[in-house]
Amino acid sequence: MLLVCSARCGGRLFRALFAEVEVDAAGVYQDHRVTQASYVCLNCGAPALDLAAVPADLEAQAQEDESSAPAITDVLCPVCETMVQLDENMECPNCGSPLEIS
Ligand SMILES: [Zn+2]
Ligand SMILES: [Zn+2]
Repeated sequence: MLLVCSARCGGRLFRALFAEVEVDAAGVYQDHRVTQASYVCLNCGAPALDLAAVPADLEAQAQEDESSAPAITDVLCPVCETMVQLDENMECPNCGSPLEIS
């Protein structure tokens, strides 16, 4: 685990929010149970992130991007001779002419 403040305030102290403490009628500690793992920055109050858990998420995201990214092609507009990067939008952003990927 490597906690950092999500607001990047540089705070180094965090408060764990994941435990619910059970007390008896006199307020004496009886037990606690873990609910969900979450932490807040003690310096600014922003939620803290666990950097140790992030790389896996980023990797999954990168793979997703790769598979869903549209193919981008450079085309020279025959009307105004602007070099246009085409993805799904098949017209020249400069003059509005319809373009074809050759
Ligand atoms: Zn902070
Ligand atoms: Zn054009």
